[in-house]
Amino acid sequence: EDLDKGMEKTKTGFFNKLNRAVAGKDKVDEEVLDELESVLISSDVGLDTTIKIIDRIEARVAEQKYVNTSELHEILRDEIVQLLAEQNDQDFEDYQLPPVEGDGPAVILVVGVNGVGKTTTIGKIANQYKRQGHKVVLGAADTFRAAAVDQLKIWSERVGCEFYSKGMYTDPAAVAYETTKFAIDNDCDVAIIDTAGRLHTKFNLMKELSKIKRSITKALPSAPHQVLLVLDATTGQNAIEQAKAFTEATDVSALALTKLDGTAKGGVAIGITDSFQVPIRYIGVGEGIEHLQIFNKRAFVDSLFG
Ligand code: GDP
Repeated sequence: EDLDKGMEKTKTGFFNKLNRAVAGKDKVDEEVLDELESVLISSDVGLDTTIKIIDRIEARVAEQKYVNTSELHEILRDEIVQLLAEQNDQDFEDYQLPPVEGDGPAVILVVGVNGVGKTTTIGKIANQYKRQGHKVVLGAADTFRAAAVDQLKIWSERVGCEFYSKGMYTDPAAVAYETTKFAIDNDCDVAIIDTAGRLHTKFNLMKELSKIKRSITKALPSAPHQVLLVLDATTGQNAIEQAKAFTEATDVSALALTKLDGTAKGGVAIGITDSFQVPIRYIGVGEGIEHLQIFNKRAFVDSLFG
C-alpha cells in the first residue's frame, strides 16, 4: 500500500487523462489513438517509447477491426507490461545482493547527478541488507561535496553499518579502492560506494567513472558487481537525458528511480527502461528509510491503472 500511496499522483494524472481522451467515444479510432499518444507523452513516457506503444496498439486495432474504448485500458496495460518485461524479465522479490563469483564482498558502485537522491537511496538499500544480517560498508567516494561525506556518515550511523572515508578533496578512485579492501579485510558482505555526480562533460564523466571502476577491479577482480544509476522521476525528460549520458559513460547494470511520490509523471519509468535496456531495480516513494521498494513491473502497472 506504500506503492499505491507513492504512485497516487501518477495514477490520478494518468487515469484522468486517459478517461478524458476516450470520453464520449465508443470506438478506438485514429482520434482516440492521437489522444492516447498525447497522454503518454505528457506522462513523460518519452517520444520513442510512446510511438512504439501506439504502433503496437494500432496494429492490434487494425487486426481486430473494432475495438471498444472500454477495452483500451486493458490493452494499454498489456502493452506496457510487455514492454517492461523485455528489460525486467526477472522480478526481484527481495533485496538480494548482486551475485559474486568466488569469494569476497559484493561491490555496488552508485552513480547519478547531485540531488537525485543518491545518498538517501544508498542508506535505504544498506538498511535492507543490514536487516537481512549482512555486514555492510558505505564508501564515501563523492569527495567533492562536504555534505556528501557527512550525509553518508549519518546514514551509516542510522543504519548501524561500517563507513569508510578519507575526507574531502581526496582522490575518489583511492577511496573506492580502499573501501573495497576494507570490505575484504573486514569480512563485509557488501560495499556500497557513493560517487560524485558531476555531469560537466560526457568525456570527463567517462574518465572519472572508468578510473573509479578500474581501482575497484584492482582491489577485487570480479568487482564491481553492480553499477546502480540513480534517477529522479520528478525531473522527467532530464532523467532520460541523464540516463543517456551515464549509460554511454559506463556499464550501468541497474536503475533506481527516486521521488515517484512527488510526481504525476511516473510514466518516465516506462520510457527509461525501454530506451536504455537497463532494468529498474528500486523505486523511491518517500524520504524515510523504509520508503524504498523493489521494482515489480506488474505491481507498478497495476498502481498506474488503479
Ligand atoms: P544526492 O545529492 O543525490 O545524494 O541526494 P540526497 O540523497 O541528499 O537527496 C536529496 C533530497 O531528495 C533529500 O531531501 C531527500 O530526502 C530527497 N529524497 C530522496 N529520495 C526520495 C524519494 O524517494 N522521495 C522523496 N519524496 N524524496 C526523496
